[in-house]
Amino acid sequence: MSQGHLFVISAPSGAGKTTILKPILAQIPAIGFSVSHTTRQPRPGEIDGKDYYFVSVEQFLDLREEGDFLEWAEVHGNFYGTSQQAVMGALAQGRDVILDIDVQGADQLRSRHDLTPTFIFIAPPSLAELERRLTDRQTETEATITLRLQNAQKEFQAAARYNYTIVNDNLEHAKAMLTAIILEKRAASRRGYDGKQLIPIL
Ligand code: ADP
Ligand code: 5GP
Repeated sequence: MSQGHLFVISAPSGAGKTTILKPILAQIPAIGFSVSHTTRQPRPGEIDGKDYYFVSVEQFLDLREEGDFLEWAEVHGNFYGTSQQAVMGALAQGRDVILDIDVQGADQLRSRHDLTPTFIFIAPPSLAELERRLTDRQTETEATITLRLQNAQKEFQAAARYNYTIVNDNLEHAKAMLTAIILEKRAASRRGYDGKQLIPIL
């Protein structure tokens, strides 16, 4: 069985990453989302084990100490980390995996030589639109919106290190572009739409 492919997706908070990813994960077969650990508080409607594993700082530091994280970072004042075992296990089973991680985490994965991920940056059409989306989402305080907008300016500078950039000005277009990238990687590694290897006669 061939290895699955790893897609690393980063975007400034509020760019629309979650909105783009949800339908894509439901539509494309054999692709999984890596559920991260975080020390941030759950937002209304977020489910433990589905959106994130919500843990205390002590639990996070213990996991980090035990080497459980493929990558981890402190983002907007909270810790976030990706489970090494879950990602490597899914890839070994031939499943593609999407990581939704920040630019520091993406840099850590770029320096690993055992992985060859595809790096995709999702950008908002403008800073003003990013602020409007973060405000309208009604999940952040004024202080955390300010912090996320300040960090966004730094994150834009990292976009050049990604293989692809998608501007989320129109949701349907952004979803179509991300779908195209994922399916292109399948065809390039001689796998079909369903993620399975092509038949031997080919
Ligand atoms: P992220 O996961 O990147 O932090 P979200 O997916 O939560 O961002 O999106 C932030 C807000 O912007 C949400 O309220 C969402 O409905 C809205 N949004 C996402 N994409 C678009 C778009 N193309 N046009 C207008 N609003 C959008
Ligand atoms: P949010 O709090 O809005 O869900 O996420 C804030 C930021 O943390 C986003 O940029 C998101 O991509 C990033 N993030 C989420 N999970 C991880 C992770 O496991 N590792 C890293 N490095 N960043 C993460």
